[in-house]
Amino acid sequence: MTRSEQIVLHWFRRDLRLTDNTALHFACEQSTQVIPVYILSTWSGEHRFTGPMRQDFLCGCLKSLNANLAAKGSRLVLREGDPAAALISLARETGAKAIYYNRDPDPHGRLVEKRLASEIATNGLRSFAFDDVTVHTPSEVLTVAGQPYRIFTPYSRAWRLVPKKSLLPPPRISELDSRNFPGGKLPNGLPLPDLSRWALSKEGSIIEPGERAARRRMNAFLSEPILRYAQLRDLASEEATSRLSQDLRFGLISPRELHTKAVALLENPGLDASEIRSIQTFLTELIWREFYFALLWHYPEVLEVEFNPKFRRIPWVTNNEALARWKEGTTGFPFVDAGMRQLLATGFMHNRLRMITAMFLTKDLHLDWREGEMFFMQKLVDGEIASNNGGWQWSAGTGADAAPYFRIQNPWSQSSRFDPEGRFIKRWVPELRDVPFASLHQPPWNGPLARGYPMPIVDHAAERQKCLDMFASR
Ligand SMILES: Cc1cc2nc3c(=O)[nH]c(=O)nc-3n(C[C@H](O)[C@H](O)[C@H](O)COP(=O)(O)OP(=O)(O)OC[C@H]3O[C@@H](n4cnc5c(N)ncnc54)[C@H](O)[C@@H]3O)c2cc1C
Repeated sequence: MTRSEQIVLHWFRRDLRLTDNTALHFACEQSTQVIPVYILSTWSGEHRFTGPMRQDFLCGCLKSLNANLAAKGSRLVLREGDPAAALISLARETGAKAIYYNRDPDPHGRLVEKRLASEIATNGLRSFAFDDVTVHTPSEVLTVAGQPYRIFTPYSRAWRLVPKKSLLPPPRISELDSRNFPGGKLPNGLPLPDLSRWALSKEGSIIEPGERAARRRMNAFLSEPILRYAQLRDLASEEATSRLSQDLRFGLISPRELHTKAVALLENPGLDASEIRSIQTFLTELIWREFYFALLWHYPEVLEVEFNPKFRRIPWVTNNEALARWKEGTTGFPFVDAGMRQLLATGFMHNRLRMITAMFLTKDLHLDWREGEMFFMQKLVDGEIASNNGGWQWSAGTGADAAPYFRIQNPWSQSSRFDPEGRFIKRWVPELRDVPFASLHQPPWNGPLARGYPMPIVDHAAERQKCLDMFASR
């Protein structure tokens, strides 16, 4: 491609940042005027894969992106509806000759790209697509026989060996500046959205959106907490993890940059063994993210069925009352309820609690993991189809490299290990504030733990056995 006198569109999707953004970088390199565009979706009401808190975060990210573009003399042009139709119409209006974008590897993203590719050709336009959502694409990490990995450990070994790309320089500013655009003004678009656009109302108090906030979180985590990550990451009340999942989900930071910076820390000769182990553990978590992207890419059917065919006919139970109590955090299991209430209040749940609540739904209540998967997608700000499906199938014992079905976490002993003083529980389940912490980690024998707090919905030991029988009979 050669740089020529031409106008192009950069289609922002799940890459809502200016720094180290592959498609945006090349759009600026190879044109004289870049028009930044985002296409809003037109669904309204309930959606299988999203909900108010994630859309709220998206609105904040678009606002922040618009402000960052304004600082470069530009602004975000917002359109809506079918992306292919909206982009082609904007290209016609502006005389743009090409559309630049980063690929979205989710099944819906792939479908949209396919349609765009076929319509673009018939409209005399060109498109340039780049890989940017992960450090490595699913097809870069394959077995020697060219097959996808189905197990994490060999995948992660192979992933580490693939050469890494270097970071991109900051985008050129003049190509974004709309004063260069004919008439000096970008075309009109829709106003920045709020939740009413999707007929949604505000829920919960979410983390600060936008590239600047995400970079602040990243730099803060890399400056010190990463060195204690391995020791503290499972302790629910410590808040010792990076809190970068929504930033990776919306592309507010680049996974390449996060990975590169974390690897660079290993070069510090003053690190002790535990600090090195912490950085390595964090890097492994980033690889889990990539592994789940690869699984969904190669096996998109996991969104509908169990990854392991052996477990496709488990007789999951239907019990609306139990499901409702799990969702609202009133199961009578303090650690489970604390996790669910953290989710409802903030759109985030600590990783340890995601595993415990998911195992509780499937192995204690025997409800279908798809119910929990959908609820998480509707509530999580970081809701990522690939990681969420992977996490649910892992917890249910049906997935690739899953926790074997007979490894069933006991919610009582999990809280005594990972929230020994009950600080996390007391924060999210205020009814239990005055209960001595030792009582929080065992089933109450003589009535409820506190006024207004229910008795456990099931007996863990009995349900564990039922679950073992359910799986063993397959
Ligand atoms: C049932 C279940 C559902 C989940 N749903 C999601 C989801 O929708 N979106 C999501 O981003 N993560 C999901 N996870 C993975 C994990 O819980 C979150 O990524 C993590 O809690 C986010 O917090 P953090 O950014 O502080 O993570 P950190 O511990 O700081 O990890 C750093 C980054 O690594 C990635 N990561 C960490 N753990 C995992 C993992 N197990 N699988 C995949 N990527 C991981 C995330 O991008 C995370 O931001 C799920 C896990 C389970 C068990």
